[in-house]
Amino acid sequence: MEQDSKLRREIFLMEESTRFFVGFDIGGTTVKCALVDESGSLRAQTEVRSHVKEGIEATLRQLGIALGDLCEKIGVSRDKLAGIGLDAPAPSSEGVIWAQANLSSDWVGKDVRHTVSTHFGGLPVHMTNDGNAAAAGEYAARPGHSGSLLYVAPGTGLAGGFVLPGGRIWEGANGLALEVGHTSVPQREEDGSLPECSCGRFGCLEAWVSLVALRRRIGIELAKLENSSHPLNDGSSIEAKALRLRDLAQAGDELARSLFRQQGRILGYGLADLVRLFDPGLVVIGGGLAESTFREEYLSWVLEGFRERSWPVYLQNPINPEKQTTRFEWALRGDDSAALGMAFTARDLFL
Ligand SMILES: [Zn+2]
Repeated sequence: MEQDSKLRREIFLMEESTRFFVGFDIGGTTVKCALVDESGSLRAQTEVRSHVKEGIEATLRQLGIALGDLCEKIGVSRDKLAGIGLDAPAPSSEGVIWAQANLSSDWVGKDVRHTVSTHFGGLPVHMTNDGNAAAAGEYAARPGHSGSLLYVAPGTGLAGGFVLPGGRIWEGANGLALEVGHTSVPQREEDGSLPECSCGRFGCLEAWVSLVALRRRIGIELAKLENSSHPLNDGSSIEAKALRLRDLAQAGDELARSLFRQQGRILGYGLADLVRLFDPGLVVIGGGLAESTFREEYLSWVLEGFRERSWPVYLQNPINPEKQTTRFEWALRGDDSAALGMAFTARDLFL
């Protein structure tokens, strides 16, 4: 009995002394927030509407609301918070945003890291981009994995990130590493041209592996005579057509499947070069396709392209054929990975 109350007192004291770390994922439509304790356990998470397009002040208010909700939910006072990890959907370095991307113009050139730190009472803040954050989240979701991890996520664009053994994100000297979407791939359109990328250059991986790429490709394919009676030739906008592709592919539509097969193979080309550079051992694929019913087929198309461009040694150890040299997995945490990754990164840096 006495032992019981001693144990309860110890647990209470441990809880009292525990510090907490916050992860914020600032996206275009939602702001997600995760809270981990100093042992690395995820304690709570939430999401609120994003107001990024209304500016930094509106976003700070949303961050405050999300964090307030979480602290209240698990009964943590603000003075127990020891650090913040933050990601925004734009390239940044030293906490300063380089380019507008999907944000309002007042973000560019602003020391967001300092602004957020001041807003939250001087807490230390680490800031990075959404691809790096999601990579860190996928690493945190695999406590049994201690090697490195390469992450790619086809979405509106193509995000990427690389995590070193132990869990630290590799961001490069200027915070600009792992812009995987803007590496080049050996692929041309049927007329020999290189497609234009969202970055203004030509022939980038993202110009083949993204929702934007699917819009271009479906437009080209639907203009062909053999596809004139395809159900997508219904007068709807190209944006609407592209959004229907996943459902059509899941239902077995040949044209939709061929577009995803091409995308998967070209992602495999890009991954072949990245694996040559980093030899990560584990490649994690995120983005919306991780939830599709044809994801195993998509992965087989990625491997098709990977085999075409890499050497066999990058899949199988030639001395010990039992040993796989590079594993490919789907993301485990979906949209939650970036907030989780930033909370873990804050714990790693500020504990
Ligand atoms: Zn590009």
